[in-house]
Amino acid sequence: MSERGLILVNTGNGKGKTTAALGVALRAVGQGLKVLILQFIKSGNGYGELAGLAKLGDQVEIRSMGKGFIYYKRDEVGEAELARHKEAAQEAWHTLVEEVNSDRWDLIIMDEINNAINYELIDVNSVVNMLKHKPERLHVILTGRYAKPEIIDIADTVTEMKVIKHAYEKGIKAAKGIEF
Ligand code: ATP
Ligand code: MG
Repeated sequence: MSERGLILVNTGNGKGKTTAALGVALRAVGQGLKVLILQFIKSGNGYGELAGLAKLGDQVEIRSMGKGFIYYKRDEVGEAELARHKEAAQEAWHTLVEEVNSDRWDLIIMDEINNAINYELIDVNSVVNMLKHKPERLHVILTGRYAKPEIIDIADTVTEMKVIKHAYEKGIKAAKGIEF
């Protein structure tokens, strides 16, 4: 008999949203669960988690489907550039819906999906609808800053990472193995 899958949200400005989700992935693999991680903003390459997760074997799969939108400011992005990000986000979205409905996974991590929603690359109502109709047993984790009230509303567990301080503010650059 399968338990009801949970909807978790990691949001807020502080560090730890993605890495906390990856911690759950590690735990889930240890319990024999199958895990899919879909990255909505990151474009792959150079992230330690990609190589690290690959070492966990075939219980976990990670796909980077974004184009790095988070590293731009919205008003610095031209129309053509924005269209490119929208297209990438839509493709990631279709992949996500397909994988959710495939019922192949026990846990799906939707990394940075909140940012994709916030930048209007993905429609929030579609996400709520997908969550409402997901396979009963499937656990999901949505990460990223600025989680919308609609998403918080439908979730079971919501955590806000709060910055007390961050090395970045002292001018310390992103550290290998810690930040990426
Ligand atoms: P992590 O991947 O380390 O768990 P995160 O998912 O909470 O971080 P994001 O908003 O996705 O954070 O930010 C991506 C990158 O920015 C990561 O390298 C992260 O360490 C770094 N970062 C997170 N919070 C801050 C902050 N308050 N100031 C500067 N950099 C940050
Ligand atoms: Mg993150």
